[in-house]
Amino acid sequence: MKSRKLIVTFGIIALFLSCATNPFTGKKTMALVPNDQLFPTAFAQYDQFLSENKVVKGTKDAEMITRVGQRIAVAAERWLNANGYQGYLNDYKWEYNLVDDKTVNAWCMPGGKIVFYTGILPIAANETGVAAIMGHEVAHALANHGQQRMSAGLLQQGVAIAGNIAIKDEKSRNAFNQYYGIGSTVGVMLPFSRAHETEADRIGLYIMAIAGYNPDEAAELWKRMKANSGGQAPPEFLSTHPSNDTRIANLQKLAPTAKKEAAKFGITSFRE
Ligand SMILES: [Zn+2]
Repeated sequence: MKSRKLIVTFGIIALFLSCATNPFTGKKTMALVPNDQLFPTAFAQYDQFLSENKVVKGTKDAEMITRVGQRIAVAAERWLNANGYQGYLNDYKWEYNLVDDKTVNAWCMPGGKIVFYTGILPIAANETGVAAIMGHEVAHALANHGQQRMSAGLLQQGVAIAGNIAIKDEKSRNAFNQYYGIGSTVGVMLPFSRAHETEADRIGLYIMAIAGYNPDEAAELWKRMKANSGGQAPPEFLSTHPSNDTRIANLQKLAPTAKKEAAKFGITSFRE
């Protein structure tokens, strides 16, 4: 009992020692694993994932993923710079890949490592739909949602009692895989909380609009996601990103704000 109490105490201390400010909300958030440990782990996992899967190169779709990804990255950087967060993306090593796999999924790992599966393209339907998904996934990464989820999990398991942890040890590497859910075991990723989803929707709308993509289309994308969720077991993306009327209504409500945000960057019309 006593040792448990000790763990909790250390955990609380760790929490205060290891907070990072979320530039999108100004809120302090938990970050037990520093980026200089997290990013190299993510980069290695990403390379391993690419080596074990069929990366599509040189097709129109593959080029579209790269093009949208680059525009979203530029938009995120412009937004961060304009809001006083110069250097926030210094350690990011953006990469965008399309993988030949019928799974309905897309993700962005810490440090800007993005994968789209060919299976999500029919629901994305067009480049703006891809931008809506990309904006949302990049937003999770920028807001360190995976990091917060992993930190909370590590704390709960009593792994992270020392303020921060070495990602090199096996237990924490397993936790990384569990909370980021990729590597060789696609599909084990735990869903984000509703609050994180709402936050990623909002940030995603802003950056897609600043990248020149019409934010009105995000709600349309989620309508298609919803239509696709009928029937048997939901596809991967839908099981971790449940779509519902509240989400769609929220996106519709926020789209005008995203357009105003984009106008600050001189974006007043959107790509076809
Ligand atoms: Zn999400």
